[in-house]
Amino acid sequence: MLAWPALPAPQKIPASYRGKTMLNMPVGFTEKVIALTFDDGPNPATTPSILSALRRYRAKATFYVVGGMVHNREWILRRAAAEGHQIGNHTFSHHARPPMSRAITEIAHTDARIKGAVGYLPTTFRPPFGILNSATTAVERSKGSPIVLWTGDSLDWKYKNADMVYRRVMANAHPGGVILMHDIHPSTMQAVPRILASLSLRGYRCITIPEMMVKWDEFSAKRAATLKAKAAKATMVATNVRPK
Ligand SMILES: [Zn+2]
Repeated sequence: MLAWPALPAPQKIPASYRGKTMLNMPVGFTEKVIALTFDDGPNPATTPSILSALRRYRAKATFYVVGGMVHNREWILRRAAAEGHQIGNHTFSHHARPPMSRAITEIAHTDARIKGAVGYLPTTFRPPFGILNSATTAVERSKGSPIVLWTGDSLDWKYKNADMVYRRVMANAHPGGVILMHDIHPSTMQAVPRILASLSLRGYRCITIPEMMVKWDEFSAKRAATLKAKAAKATMVATNVRPK
């Protein structure tokens, strides 16, 4: 019997993000890294082409999959995981505000589908429509999953036009940014190679959500240390103590 080759393990989540919302990049962040995220798939007509473009540019991304879309498409998740991308939970049926009993199954069934495909549970969650105060979000928070939103929205679901998607993403491309796209639209699929080419020309590296959490965390810690040192120096000056 043929066994699937082992897939890379999911990347670790920094402890500071357990059960927390990832929303605003730290002020002053300048490193040219960006996290592309693709929601609502997988779709056999569009996701594999996006994966091929990502591979050509050595770019990593994060896919927030809808559990109800996974059946018979497990191979797409396996390919994404094998190529170094991260898979997250985006509920089973994309219900905005299900009651608690349904929220529990929405999360559990999606976890099970993802585990069935790649062999491990997803480590991050993106709520449908970015709604933070839903029962599904509460369930994920209680599990300790980070709730991942975005800093820039491509509005690809609205325009369904490759030029618009490209322009919206590039206008929202900032150091440390998290970009929202949907890998189910042909127009998004068409825009991705251009986006990757332009990001690469501008010196950006595309990283996953867990990698971005580490970057945001390290930057915030460094900034806090700098501010503390500055405050200590100011105190010394104020009290006329000469630093040695
Ligand atoms: Zn969605």
